[in-house]
Amino acid sequence: MENFSYHTPSSVADAAKLLEGAEDAKLIAGGMTLLPTLKQRLAAPSDLIDLASVPGLKGVTREGDEIVIGAMTTHAEVHENALVREAIPGLASLAGQIGDPAVRHRGTIGGSISNADPAADYPAGLVGHGATVVTNKRKIAADDFFTGLFETALETGEIVTSVRFPVPTWSAYQKLRHPASGYAVVGVLVAQTKSGVRVAVTGAGPSVFRVAKMEEALTRDFSAKAIEGITIPADEMNNDIHASAAYRAHVVTVLAKRAVAAR
Ligand SMILES: Cc1cc2nc3c(=O)[nH]c(=O)nc-3n(C[C@H](O)[C@H](O)[C@H](O)COP(=O)(O)OP(=O)(O)OC[C@H]3O[C@@H](n4cnc5c(N)ncnc54)[C@H](O)[C@@H]3O)c2cc1C
Repeated sequence: MENFSYHTPSSVADAAKLLEGAEDAKLIAGGMTLLPTLKQRLAAPSDLIDLASVPGLKGVTREGDEIVIGAMTTHAEVHENALVREAIPGLASLAGQIGDPAVRHRGTIGGSISNADPAADYPAGLVGHGATVVTNKRKIAADDFFTGLFETALETGEIVTSVRFPVPTWSAYQKLRHPASGYAVVGVLVAQTKSGVRVAVTGAGPSVFRVAKMEEALTRDFSAKAIEGITIPADEMNNDIHASAAYRAHVVTVLAKRAVAAR
């Protein structure tokens, strides 16, 4: 690990000022991804800006038909939260399937989505529920937030402050876990929302994606049978030592059917 300056700002505005003023600064949330990256010298930021002591970034509230989750809320807190369990049990279940207990008690929703790992679970949770990412500068629809492999719409100096989830009629998350890390080899979130059925897939491709054909079929007939003949083209799927592209494509349909069958 290289030397860096460590900062503990006490407001989002101060954190943003530090982020924009330093030569090559990085925010740190749970550190679950960033610290191993620093230890392996894959990144050597000049400054680390810790969001831990910034007030207002942690916790869950209900505002009308939306559940609002602060960026510094850990996966364990989302999993255990009574409001999330009651209003969006599919999201509580997703958070409880992330990694292991240590990761769930340190890792945060803001850190996870800003990192945009192609095998992370939350991208499917956000896109599947039609969530909105709130930053210190603007609101970004989840559909526009994840732009590629480890890439998001976040600009320099932009800090995720919360995520707003519209309460769905119903949702469920199904995942094929990597047996060592817990990351999603494939994860599928199916939600019935006011604006129709949404099907979001993580782990299978370079970034989270929706399956329009399944959404249309499930809007007509919400049954596992309605999507059993829908196949995902394998040519844009990830192909690595964990699973072939063809296998991942096959598993998307299997998991989508399981999610629907859980209704
Ligand atoms: C062993 C292991 C297993 C794991 N298994 C899973 C799994 O099964 N599923 C899964 O989804 N994830 C998994 N993870 C990742 C975990 O969910 C982490 O929580 C996540 O990668 C990063 O969150 P963090 O809060 O630790 O962020 P950090 O590591 O602190 O930061 C990650 C990145 O996000 C940026 N960042 C952090 N907060 C913000 C913010 N508010 N605004 C803007 N940028 C920000 C940082 O600058 C950094 O670039 C695993 C991690 C480990 C180590």
